Amino acid sequence: RAKDDGRNSYQLYQPAMNARSLEHLALETALHGALKRDELLLHFQPLIDLQSGAIVAAEALLRWCHPELDLVSPADFIPLAEETGLIVPIGEWVLRNACEHHRAWRKAGRGDLRMMVNISARQFRDDAFVEVVDRVLKETGMPPELLTLEVTETMLMDDVDSSIVRMHRLRALGVRLALDDFGTGYSSLAYLKRFPIEELKIDRLFVRGIDRNTRDAALVAAIISLGQSLDLRVVAEGVENKDHLKVLREQGCDVAQGFHFSVPLAWPAFMALGG
Ligand code: C2E
Ligand code: MG
Ligand code: MG
Ligand code: MG
Repeated sequence: RAKDDGRNSYQLYQPAMNARSLEHLALETALHGALKRDELLLHFQPLIDLQSGAIVAAEALLRWCHPELDLVSPADFIPLAEETGLIVPIGEWVLRNACEHHRAWRKAGRGDLRMMVNISARQFRDDAFVEVVDRVLKETGMPPELLTLEVTETMLMDDVDSSIVRMHRLRALGVRLALDDFGTGYSSLAYLKRFPIEELKIDRLFVRGIDRNTRDAALVAAIISLGQSLDLRVVAEGVENKDHLKVLREQGCDVAQGFHFSVPLAWPAFMALGG
């Protein structure tokens, strides 16, 4: 269409398109080699039990240290990895690496900590996914009950019935499931009841305003009581300050995660947290 509009608009349009697709292509090519070149690594962010104050789990968060682009944010490359299907091998690497790190916790006497791993839609839908999880658990000696897979409402809603079947197959391996970014996707409460999940993670979008905005506070309180009435552990994401924490405690939230406690850390720094 830009062509028909005449020369000027064509010229204005074209360079921007080229730049964007070039960048995309370069990133895609680079991402292809990232695994082989050992440029991927995991950071770990602690989850804190609000009753005891202890670290009870860590969420593994993927980082890509590209030699020229520095640290590329997962928000930028996970969608690309999804699009290209690269998320399948990358996701398996994440799972294996997280389980291998857990072995180091067990050696250090911290084998009670749970490891939380994000799963993407494409990975979850992959026919081999359940077998991959099973194999990684066996090969790494990971106690299944200490592994929690984070899934989102949006990816489950694609095909609810087959998602539920798949979730049950995962539960049969002994792993646990958490619903990540809760409240931002669309799902109905009827489905929530059918999902064999253990945990709800309230998206930080809602947590951000709880100390100032009565609507946010009311929403978070509602999610907490919803979770508790379904016997789910409730985790608040994005806890950035004392005021957030104070409201969440008053509301009876179980577990919290956020910059107030710690940013995601490289493994040695995480180990030094103690907890
Ligand atoms: P998520 O699973 O919801 O992870 C939480 C994100 O919130 C992380 O961003 C974390 O650094 C950030 N965060 C934690 N506390 C705070 C806080 O107090 N304030 C603010 N503003 N942010 C906070 P990150 O590491 O950039 O990851 C972004 C998203 O990328 C993740 O959201 C997840 O959806 C995806 N992701 C990360 N690692 C993986 C992975 O290994 N596999 C897959 N499939 N997705 C991943
Ligand atoms: Mg997550
Ligand atoms: Mg989240
Ligand atoms: Mg997310």
